[in-house]
Amino acid sequence: MAPAFLLTLLLSQSAPSLGQGRAHVEALRSGNLLKTWSQVANLPGQQFTSLAALQKFAAGFRSYGTESKLVSEGLGQRNGVTVYTRVMAVSNWARGVTVDVQMDEHGRLVGAAMNFATREAPTTYGAYRCLVKLRLPLEETWHVLWGGRSYDDNRHASMSDMRFALDLLQRKNGSSAMSSGLTNEDYFAWNQPVVAPADGVIVVADDGVVDNVPNKPVGGNLYGNLLVIDHGTGEFTLLGHLRQGSLQVKAGERVVKGQRLARVGNSGMSTEPHLHFHLMDTGDWKTANGLPLQLTDFVRNGTLVDRAEPRRGDVLTAVAAEASR
Ligand SMILES: [Zn+2]
Repeated sequence: MAPAFLLTLLLSQSAPSLGQGRAHVEALRSGNLLKTWSQVANLPGQQFTSLAALQKFAAGFRSYGTESKLVSEGLGQRNGVTVYTRVMAVSNWARGVTVDVQMDEHGRLVGAAMNFATREAPTTYGAYRCLVKLRLPLEETWHVLWGGRSYDDNRHASMSDMRFALDLLQRKNGSSAMSSGLTNEDYFAWNQPVVAPADGVIVVADDGVVDNVPNKPVGGNLYGNLLVIDHGTGEFTLLGHLRQGSLQVKAGERVVKGQRLARVGNSGMSTEPHLHFHLMDTGDWKTANGLPLQLTDFVRNGTLVDRAEPRRGDVLTAVAAEASR
């Protein structure tokens, strides 16, 4: 058997690889699709009927922004084709996004789909008990918009760093805004003080991102103005979407529990003023894994509790004695 023929035979029998899936995602991301198209234009069962259709899909994919974090990737089989699935955090959306690339037996692209990631990110911290004693990083009473362990309760759950995050806002008579909600000032949460949930050292203090007009988030920056606090226990708090210019602390500064740090804002991928709060295992959210977030000594739905993980729909009140000024 001639070597060239043997090679062809081997290639034709090998299954598509992770590398081929990644290369297709890269081509969609770059928009350089001529090579891809030259390989797939006449394939039977091809989803894209023209180069323009493929380019249109790629433009939609790029509109989610740049990939800020890889959550997971893998190969599977569906209806006789190999599917490369990549779940990622992106710069223009506050939820995980998943892209599926379908490949024939030679690794050529036969179709693609993208969606919001709706599965909980894998975690090894399911039974984790927080070492640091965290208080609500706010004063007074707050409503949990998203929080808990399942994707149904918590739209953050598809992303590894924000796996157990909370979105907190204030509501009166079921509404987070006083009237039309057209301006940030109209929201009860806007400009409320954000306090340190526990002692620690500030490791990230990013300011300078302009607050959005409600319901018109500007892409390109996930958390907007943010603080990350190292609690010295291998646990790090991230506080996001803070008001531009409101940060009262700098990186390297030591802070104490209950100390006012900033104000609630509407920066980054945020549609209305609220506080994003999560705990993670390193100070860099791009590589971190989220930790279950247990608060201690607070009032939940009218009852004093010594330790609990808040969930969607809960009403949380900081205990007055802890709300130091
Ligand atoms: Zn959030």
